[in-house]
Amino acid sequence: KLHNTILELKGNIRVFCRVRPLLRDDGAGTETTVISYPTSTEALGRGIDLIQSGGQKYPFTFDKVFTHEASQQDVFIEISQLVQSALDGYKVCIFAYGQTGSGKTYTMMGRPEAPEQKGLIPRSLEQIFQISQSLSSQGWKYKMQASMLEIYNETIRDLLTINRSSGLDMTRIENAAPGKQYSIKHDANGNTYVSDLTIVDVCSIKEISSLLHQAAQSRSVGKTQMNEQSSRSHFVFTLRISGVNESTEQQVQGVLNLIDLAGSERLSKSESTGDRLKETQAINKSLSSLSDVIFALAKKDDHVPFRNSKLTYLLQPCLGGDSKTLMFVNISPEPSSVGESLCSLRFAARVN
Ligand code: ADP
Ligand code: MG
Repeated sequence: KLHNTILELKGNIRVFCRVRPLLRDDGAGTETTVISYPTSTEALGRGIDLIQSGGQKYPFTFDKVFTHEASQQDVFIEISQLVQSALDGYKVCIFAYGQTGSGKTYTMMGRPEAPEQKGLIPRSLEQIFQISQSLSSQGWKYKMQASMLEIYNETIRDLLTINRSSGLDMTRIENAAPGKQYSIKHDANGNTYVSDLTIVDVCSIKEISSLLHQAAQSRSVGKTQMNEQSSRSHFVFTLRISGVNESTEQQVQGVLNLIDLAGSERLSKSESTGDRLKETQAINKSLSSLSDVIFALAKKDDHVPFRNSKLTYLLQPCLGGDSKTLMFVNISPEPSSVGESLCSLRFAARVN
């Protein structure tokens, strides 16, 4: 392996918490603070206290806590080594968990049109391309392949078949028909792939941005036409990296998975029927499976229940072994979200 990462010293699962700023839309008069940050030396930068209206205080500690003041760059600095380890042949998963509106998509994708507000996905990809190019002077040649999918109600949707007119070379696009059942296969080498999923060879940052743009578009189509499906589905971006060193004949195979999870909010009583109920049950099942898997891995259990959801089954090779996992728990500072925030923090504390 080319680079050392600090993660190796501390095990392979990390949890970072990020609190978004209060937005104008959150409503006037919401100045009551429901979040505070402990200043003791041991909890500094790692602790967060949630305060309920009655004054009850719930303290949590994570590997890192980003306050509402943290910029996209501040966050990226803390994960850039982890991203880089995918180039060294590691399998990496970075998740964003939290209720709808807590800042998951902002953290992962950001606002790509504003450079300083770009999220982890564009920043990670830019870094990977830059470093892979600089390593070519040491004989390294890399091949990168990207795919983007959505898991909605335990069904996979290919996000790269939707806009076909981009002029990109989509190797398997001809096989992809609407309504197709994409199924997850495990091969003899212990890798997973999704049958008939579009996989695109990417050679430049420009191609990647075009792909991300397409994915964002196909998700926003979902948003208006399919009952805000984007907040009800998991978004999975996968970059497969194969590197060969032409002088030493060393080889590496890394994978970077960047996952914007479905909103974790519980259902309100009025919604607990029909399609909405089915959706929520699917989300709850896959989020609790994810937590069960990460928890089992952290405890080094013999049995890890990967097969209980599409998401964990798909990501199985990238979750165990010497792979590296980071979960962001995104928190909204709105007083009306305290209940959901507490649930999110408890979820994250369990996997931490
Ligand atoms: P989610 O994906 O969890 O539903 P979003 O990422 O869409 O939430 O965030 C909800 C709103 O808050 C969006 O308008 C987003 O731009 C804004 N937002 C989220 N996090 C931040 C942040 N750290 N700084 C500024 N605006 C943010
Ligand atoms: Mg979102």
